[in-house]
Parts: sequence; C-alpha cells; structure tokens
Amino acid sequence: MRVINFNPGPAGLPLPALERARDELLDFEHSGMSVMEHSHRGREYEAVHNEAIALLTELLGIPTSHQVLFLTGGASQQFAQVPMNFLTPGTSADYLMTGVWSEKAFEEAKYYGTPRVAVTTVQPDKHYTRVPHQDELRLDAKAAYVHMTSNNTIYGTQWHTFPDVGAVPLVVDMSSDFLWRKQDVGGIALLYAGAQKNLGPSGVTVVVAARDFIARGRKDIPKVFRYGIHAENNSLYNTPPTLAIYLVRNVLAWMKSVGGLAQIEAWNRQKAALLYGALDQHAGFYRAPVERASRSVMNVVFHLPTEALDAAFVAEARTQGMVGLKGHRTSGGIRVSTYNAVTVENVQALTSFMEHFVKTHG
Ligand code: PMP
Repeated sequence: MRVINFNPGPAGLPLPALERARDELLDFEHSGMSVMEHSHRGREYEAVHNEAIALLTELLGIPTSHQVLFLTGGASQQFAQVPMNFLTPGTSADYLMTGVWSEKAFEEAKYYGTPRVAVTTVQPDKHYTRVPHQDELRLDAKAAYVHMTSNNTIYGTQWHTFPDVGAVPLVVDMSSDFLWRKQDVGGIALLYAGAQKNLGPSGVTVVVAARDFIARGRKDIPKVFRYGIHAENNSLYNTPPTLAIYLVRNVLAWMKSVGGLAQIEAWNRQKAALLYGALDQHAGFYRAPVERASRSVMNVVFHLPTEALDAAFVAEARTQGMVGLKGHRTSGGIRVSTYNAVTVENVQALTSFMEHFVKTHG
C-alpha cells in the first residue's frame, strides 16, 4: 500500500512512471539488461537521454535559442557553478534574497566575485513571509546576472510574476517549482532545478540556458564545471546519472500523457485552492504566515496554535496514511508539499483531515 506522500523533496513520483520503471527494470527493451547497465554512449541509453530532452522541450515550449543540460551535484552545485562561469573578476552580480536557498547561493558567489543584495525580504526574526515587489528592487544595470529563487521551499513563498531585470541576464533557481505550469523560458538566461521535486529522483539537475549566455562562460575553469563543455557534448561529456535521467524521461512521458503542463497547472491550482481555502476558513486555528500574493502553489506552510498540536497533527495524519507534513527544522509548523505527483484526491484527503482535526482539537 502506497502512502499519501507530502514530502518536500525527494518527493513522491507519479505511479505510472514508477510502474514503467518496475516493468522495464531487468530487461530494458529486450536488451537483456536494465537501462542502468547500458553504456551511456550506447544507442539504447542515448535514445532515452534524447527523448527526455525532447519531451522537456516540447512540454515547456523551450525555444531553439536555449539548450537543456543534465548535470549532477544538485542545485547546490549550481550555486557555485553559476558564479564560477559568469562572475568574472571585477564584476558583480545581483541576488534577490527570499529565503535560505537564496542565502546559500549568495554565499557561494562570494568565492568568485562580489555579489550584491539587490533586495531582501528577511524579517528581524530571520524568516521570510513574502517575495519582493518590483519597486523594491535596487538593480545594478552592470551586474553580470541577477539571481533569484522562484519558489522558496522552506517558507512557502513563490514569485508568481518574474521581476523585470532589464537587459541583465536572469538566473533562476527553479528547484521546487520547475514544471508546475507552462512558462515562457525564452527570457531567462539560465534556470536550474534539482529533479527531486517535480520531475524525478535526486541525482540529476536540469539546466535550461540560452546558448549565447553559455558561450559567455569562462574558459579558464576546469572543464567539468563549464556549461559550454556540457552543452557541446549534449550532457555526455562524462557519464551522466543514467538511471535518474531515465526516470525523468518516465515522469515527462507521464506528464505528456495526462495532457501536458496545462493539465498539470490546473491540478496544481486546484490543490492550492483547496489547501489555502481550508486554512482561510479556519484562520483562528491554522495560522498561515505567508502574505497572500506570495503564497506558494507547491509548498503550503502553516502553524497550529501550539507546537504540541503541530506534532499531534503530524502524528495523527500519519495514522491516516499521510506522511511528509512536518515543517522544515528552521521554521517548524506544518509544510504540505504538493508537487506534481500529489493528486487532487490526496489533497482532498488532507483537507478533510484538517476539518476533522479542528473539530476534535480546536
Ligand atoms: N534550491 C531550492 C529552492 C531547494 O528547495 C533546494 C533543496 N530543497 C535546493 C536549492 C538545494 O538542492 P540540492 O539538495 O539538490 O542541492
């Protein structure tokens, strides 16, 4: 019996994608071995690799100006790799600070140049409950790039409209909301996302970057860290995480089969409406700290009246087959992560439980 999985990442995967992996595990396409036992340069694996890129390109409508890369090292490696490639000596980059992950990205950039805080929504208690408004940004027109985190996994805030950064290249950490909807990526210089939330298992990081931006990357850094080297080699410069990419292929094929990102977005909006609706209806019991306009569609954060009730909520939900609800250790409370594999029915089960919990503990 599978549980209802609200884990923040690694997160639940769509059942059809896992079932396909199970069915193909021992004998991939009558080759007598699993996909992970194939050479990354063999035609069987290469077909999977290229299909994953093609599916992603089709689902998101990625323009030919941009290229898809499959890298390793997680989003954390991207925190370093972006400045390593683009923050050349003597230049500065603007960081939009909206949570712990932006702070980590900013810290890594300091090894290579002088990152600047162009805005922060940090509060005196060190937490964040919103993303900034356009008129709060103090951008430097000469910056090498602007870095932002589109969805703040820990605090449950999300940029619903991306900021206007003028002619400066925009770099976006989309780890926790990549593919939640169709989105024009043509104006983004480089985006990255660890796969383990919306699109697969951990182990692979998807990068979508403008070819002309990649070309600007430094050539005097080790090859394995150059976006340009991975781009020239179709992400086969070294051995890629073949099993993880295979699973990403399965998840993308599932997304296409259910109707693509239009359907995925409709489900995500329904799930968020159900959850925020339940929170607003019982606002005297459940406290949702995030400003309305910044509420995340992917991570819904709230607190019960006491920490003891937070713990009781998590424990009782577990007895109902719902796991992954404990808030991040830095902010406590409850966090419901409703990535693409979480169904509307799963969220309905949770909102029914929330109603019941208010009646019995409110
Ligand atoms: N950025 C965001 C928005 C995240 O949610 C996470 C992980 N939860 C990271 C970066 C770090 O990712 P990784 O563990 O893949 O390095």
